[in-house]
Amino acid sequence: MRIGFVGLGNMGGGMAANLAARGFDVAAFDLSAEALARAEAAGCTPAASAADAARGADAVITMLPAASHVAGVWREALFPAAAPAALLIDCSTIDVATARALGAEAAGRGLAAVDAPVSGGIAAAAAGTLTFMVGGPDEAFARARPILEAMGKAVIHAGGPGAGQAAKICNNMLLGASMIATAEAFALAQKLGLDPQRFYDIASVSSGQCWAMTSYCPVPGVGPESPADRGYTGGFATALMLKDLKLAMEAARATGADVPMGARAAELYAAFAEAGNGALDFSAIIRTLR
Ligand code: NAD
Repeated sequence: MRIGFVGLGNMGGGMAANLAARGFDVAAFDLSAEALARAEAAGCTPAASAADAARGADAVITMLPAASHVAGVWREALFPAAAPAALLIDCSTIDVATARALGAEAAGRGLAAVDAPVSGGIAAAAAGTLTFMVGGPDEAFARARPILEAMGKAVIHAGGPGAGQAAKICNNMLLGASMIATAEAFALAQKLGLDPQRFYDIASVSSGQCWAMTSYCPVPGVGPESPADRGYTGGFATALMLKDLKLAMEAARATGADVPMGARAAELYAAFAEAGNGALDFSAIIRTLR
């Protein structure tokens, strides 16, 4: 099966390499010559443009920074160049409204399309252990599933067009708020004279337990290995968490949803990023609370 792959950055590079390693014929394109060379070394065939990658492909995947890039590539390159029976898959994290609009425009041209954002970072993209949350019609989901399974450990149909993006931003809003709550609980426990490891031993088997604590503890040396143990590097950058929280706030405004905890988390991450910490892992927010 031939796959066009557009966007070979931190995430897309590993994903395209996994498709090639599993026997897909991958025509890859990125604006960056270095990213393209890495994909070629990983077994992909370099394409001269996004349209070139899409031409003749059974499915085309985009993994781009933001909605403007995805909309530009879909409208200017994929819609004109993709084969009439092609399936379009966007794995980038973008706003729900744009995902729905692109799904509708693709359907209007007779193309199948899904939004399929991912959970899991650069390491999961390289290891092929991403989780895909997929929005789109049943038939498009059924076609996308075996392709996504070659890059991930879980592929879940969230609902119709845009539902994958909706699941992604709600999940990450919960994560952003729960990381701050976890960090402030550790900070208060310490001010009250509790040893962080002792507090972890108790809270991790009590009702305060959550993923931010037991899989990604923001306190160095406590819990399983996490970015905190590596100076808050090599995880999910604060800038990316802020991007997702902004998408969640945009969606909340559009739907009239009340999200006071998500809104506060967005403010705190914005201030943390503005202070020069955008590249640090998002769990480093604990530094502002201790
Ligand atoms: P990145 O910046 O490393 O990669 C994006 C790539 O797209 C770059 O190589 C860039 O050159 C290329 N690009 C931009 N415009 C292009 C165009 N018009 N045509 C072709 N190539 C173009 O970003 P990333 O970290 O790989 O993230 C990609 C997406 O995945 C984002 O939407 C991000 O929010 C999402 N995401 C990232 C992570 C993470 O941990 N990095 C985790 C989950 C989701």
